[in-house]
Amino acid sequence: MGENSKSVLIIGAGIAGIQAALDLGDMGIKVYLIEKNPCIGGRMSQLDKTFPTLDCSICILAPKLSECYRHPNITLYTLSEVQKVEGKIGNFTVEVLKHARYVKEDACTNCGDCAAICPVRGVKNYFDADLKTQAAIFIPFPAAVPPVYMIDKDACVNLNYGICGLCAQNCGAEAIDLTQKDSVLTIDNVSAIIVATGLDLDENIAPLSHYGYGIYQNVVTAMEFERLICASGPQAGHLKRISDGVDPKKIAFLQCIDSRTQRAQKYCSAICCMYTTKEAMVAFEHNDELESYVFYIDMRAGGKGFQNFLGRGKDEYNIKYIKSKIAKVNVDENESPIIVYEDLDSGEIKQMTVDIVVLATCIIPTLGLDKLANILDIELNEYRYVKTDPFFPVETSKEGIFTCGCAREPMDIPRSVAEASGAAARAAEVIRGG
Ligand SMILES: Cc1cc2nc3c(=O)[nH]c(=O)nc-3n(C[C@H](O)[C@H](O)[C@H](O)COP(=O)(O)OP(=O)(O)OC[C@H]3O[C@@H](n4cnc5c(N)ncnc54)[C@H](O)[C@@H]3O)c2cc1C
Ligand code: SF4
Ligand code: SF4
Repeated sequence: MGENSKSVLIIGAGIAGIQAALDLGDMGIKVYLIEKNPCIGGRMSQLDKTFPTLDCSICILAPKLSECYRHPNITLYTLSEVQKVEGKIGNFTVEVLKHARYVKEDACTNCGDCAAICPVRGVKNYFDADLKTQAAIFIPFPAAVPPVYMIDKDACVNLNYGICGLCAQNCGAEAIDLTQKDSVLTIDNVSAIIVATGLDLDENIAPLSHYGYGIYQNVVTAMEFERLICASGPQAGHLKRISDGVDPKKIAFLQCIDSRTQRAQKYCSAICCMYTTKEAMVAFEHNDELESYVFYIDMRAGGKGFQNFLGRGKDEYNIKYIKSKIAKVNVDENESPIIVYEDLDSGEIKQMTVDIVVLATCIIPTLGLDKLANILDIELNEYRYVKTDPFFPVETSKEGIFTCGCAREPMDIPRSVAEASGAAARAAEVIRGG
């Protein structure tokens, strides 16, 4: 590495950040990859299968996660956030706040003995969309990278009341450090920065009570449904109603929840039509007597083979598409959701009772992007995503700072990967000249 004093800093280690890091690392360029969560992989690691191929998401992602972790040119900081940036293209100085994990990354063997003895139970697991609970010391999912446990500081009784400490006594690797503190790292000589902070979901900011979400147990979001049908999820891949554990026979998927509306977000979330059909297909693979109904305004399948994918949904997976407007979701005495809707083909007001409702909630920019944009001194667009020029989609408003993936707008995995390689190439140009 001739230029190993120069580096690129990437913020966000979802599929976009990971792809950019691998591209740059393979070019011999030093990369600092900053991730706020305890592990890398972003939303893709939470998905069961991916459209349009219905491949197992984590099977495609896992090799990239470990390559990223082991790559000699990539330094990964998890539980970390950028808190200050100074300088300009070719020479930024970046201050990173690294939150305490309370477990030493180089010592933990991922054996789980600590979690087995921890007396605190019932802590919600963010990775399983809060549908599964865990101990105060945990790993988000078994194949997480880095393969290291961490302590939830709000739940741990030692960190709050100075008692317990059982995990430290039970850890044969002496990996637990209950005295660990947050630390600040300064990274000099950063030539370029890539913002790959990805997406959040509407349910994180909106109550959605109009659709019965948060009120009725059998109304779930698409992200929750991904975890419910996943073999590594809270129901071990056996899809059941949350209220009574009964196998569903009829599922309704409601599209454009808070997307394309003056009331909430005005833009199209771009991927829901496709992932809904995928989720209905996967559900059918679990039970081929299942009926799925997709309530849509119009179906948007802009991608190679995507229209064909929707056609297969109809022909091979018993999916019925109903052009409609949802008025309300109620429930009957069995907790079965009743959808009240206007059938846009006939103009009639109708009702349908189903076993589960799945909401395709709007994709929004990652929470906290406003603060990060201030730190980086980059502009956001009217929808609060990173602002880019339509003809230079990976360039931000500041020279030397690039972006890719859902930090910029909602998009699928293939596009996120393609943009990540574009952003990596532009960052490499800063170092190599171009
Ligand atoms: C329900 C659902 C189903 C989907 N199904 C499919 C599918 O089948 N096929 C498909 O192609 N696409 C699918 N997608 C879309 C896919 O999830 C995205 O295309 C992909 O995750 C985008 O990757 P990303 O890296 O841009 O963002 P993310 O996956 O969101 O990753 C961003 C990362 O940045 C981190 N981060 C955020 N802010 C900060 C910060 N300030 N500092 C440090 N780190 C930060 C986050 O913690 C996260 O790890 C689906 C999406 C949803 C919601
Ligand atoms: S912290 Fe110790 S006990 Fe817990 S998983 Fe790591 S090595 Fe095992
Ligand atoms: S010290 Fe905290 S994490 Fe460890 S066993 Fe006790 S409560 Fe659990």
